[in-house]
Amino acid sequence: MSRTLGIYIHIPFCVRKCNYCDFTSLAGADEELKQRYITCLSKQIQMEGNGRPVDSVFFGGGTPSLLSPSQLGSVMEALRREFSLTKDCEITVEANPGTVTEESLRGYQSLGINRLSFGVQSMEDEILERLGRIHRSEDAVRSVELTRRAGFDNLNLDLMFGIPGQSLDQWTSTLEKITKLSPEHISFYSLQVEEGTPIYNDIKYGRLTPLTDEEDRAMYHAGLAYLRQQGYGQYEISNGAKPGRECRHNRKYWTMQDYVGFGLAAHSFVDGIRYSAGDDLRAYMEALEDNRTPREWVHENTVEETASEFLFTGLRLTEGVDLEEFQRRFGASLEEMYPQSMDELERFRQQGFVVTREQRGLGRGCRRMYLTERGMDISNRIMALFV
Ligand code: SF4
Repeated sequence: MSRTLGIYIHIPFCVRKCNYCDFTSLAGADEELKQRYITCLSKQIQMEGNGRPVDSVFFGGGTPSLLSPSQLGSVMEALRREFSLTKDCEITVEANPGTVTEESLRGYQSLGINRLSFGVQSMEDEILERLGRIHRSEDAVRSVELTRRAGFDNLNLDLMFGIPGQSLDQWTSTLEKITKLSPEHISFYSLQVEEGTPIYNDIKYGRLTPLTDEEDRAMYHAGLAYLRQQGYGQYEISNGAKPGRECRHNRKYWTMQDYVGFGLAAHSFVDGIRYSAGDDLRAYMEALEDNRTPREWVHENTVEETASEFLFTGLRLTEGVDLEEFQRRFGASLEEMYPQSMDELERFRQQGFVVTREQRGLGRGCRRMYLTERGMDISNRIMALFV
């Protein structure tokens, strides 16, 4: 397993809360609070840095693009001081369309940031309004133009489908408009309605009607087919990229590589141990100002838990999992680890949901197991075999 780390940095600030959001983020923070948070974040990096090589950094949120280049710069400085960033390190900043300027983008670039990820979600203003997003479709177009002008050549656009009231035509139209912008990478997620969010209440009280599973799946498959036709290879259930532009950082999560998270509620997975800071902003900052670690939760995975997570995350990838690597990592084959699930797995195989295939290439061969496109529709049922 690679000793090269990924680093996730959580920036919990947003202009306002979207109607579907249950992420750890807060709206309307003033400059003083942001600055205080940045100081704490840099201190956490200084306290927990270990000099390990790092080949991906991801600023997620929240809306990291609400930070100025100098604020992001002080975090980058701490990272470069406390870790060893590789020359080709992928450094991504998540951004909301309309929150970047050519100047801020040039500033980000001068810090070594080389990938931008915009939460576009839809190119239909009516849908953006329903989601409670702060931007409109023309902001997305403008932000992409500015990003290219500033010299970025690695861009992801996040999209959402399965939104109450969204038609298949609206989804297709969004895909057409997005692919015209020619991003290197596109993520496409089905809306998850989380309890307590405004959209959840709109559905609960009959103000919005959710799509049926069939409608949601039809959008998923139409999206996949369209993206493929436009040259975006699907490499994960919800992600497609032009050749060679897969997201290095996210691949670390899906292949169970080590990553360290800094910031409010940020999770880490290092040497089989999971840990995270809590999600109370005040407690997080007070701990660091008091020279204490903000770590609130630690869990040492059992071999069985790590094996199960290896399959859960790996089966999200279209390449699936390497069963020989599974055996090497966990000291038992799939059949030995889950004897009770083998009959059911065989049925899924026969029905064309799962494929197991020998692969011979340069060097050693391997046996891979992966989900087919139809299998991905019922991935939860298949993955439940490995709990
Ligand atoms: S921009 Fe993202 S993190 Fe912020 S409120 Fe909207 S969905 Fe949540």
